[in-house]
Amino acid sequence: MRIVDFILNILFPPRCTYCNKEGDFLCTECVSGLKIKDLCCKRRFYKKEKEFEHLDGVIYGVDYADNPQIKSAVQQFKYRFTQELADTFGSLMAQKLSELAMNKDKTNVLIPVPLHKKRLNYRGFNQAELLAESTSRKTNRTNVLNCLSRVRHTDQQAKLSKIERHKNLDNAFCVNDFDIDKESVYFIVDDICTTGATLENCAKTLKFAGVKKVYGLVIARAIKN
Ligand SMILES: [Zn+2]
Repeated sequence: MRIVDFILNILFPPRCTYCNKEGDFLCTECVSGLKIKDLCCKRRFYKKEKEFEHLDGVIYGVDYADNPQIKSAVQQFKYRFTQELADTFGSLMAQKLSELAMNKDKTNVLIPVPLHKKRLNYRGFNQAELLAESTSRKTNRTNVLNCLSRVRHTDQQAKLSKIERHKNLDNAFCVNDFDIDKESVYFIVDDICTTGATLENCAKTLKFAGVKKVYGLVIARAIKN
């Protein structure tokens, strides 16, 4: 934990980002109220969209639309280092991973979506990496592999339209040398999936490197109209 966050936590004890109850950034009541749907793996959830050329599917914990309590917590997590939220979200993602039938006897390889060096320096942490590490701690045979880098500094996705998002990320990633294990299942880890442009571009990079199947693993999906 960064010292500044440690001090901030003492001066301003955490409050639930949704109901404002003191104690946790997402209180146990708000967590237990999450509406978690059954998995929809092995199929693309944005079925109508043709831009998922490389991504084989996305596994997500919850839907933003049904769970207003998760949105404020994700925003908090994205911009301020919060290990406690990484653990909460990691549990949710680990639960989804262990429900998967296709990877029962295989190793899960979790690849965090990388931040550009400039943004990493500014923010001090990569939230996708925290999520991957937390998920990995809570599941068997799950490793974190930091094999992607961001080669271009890109505009922030949130400000862009669906088409602009895909364009913005074109060739933004590159893959560092790593041995592809044919017996492993590969997942790109991020916080949320809106249009899927980030996951799709990471999947494209990994597939060019020789990985056969690539899935996304996120806390929540949000649908952008
Ligand atoms: Zn709460």
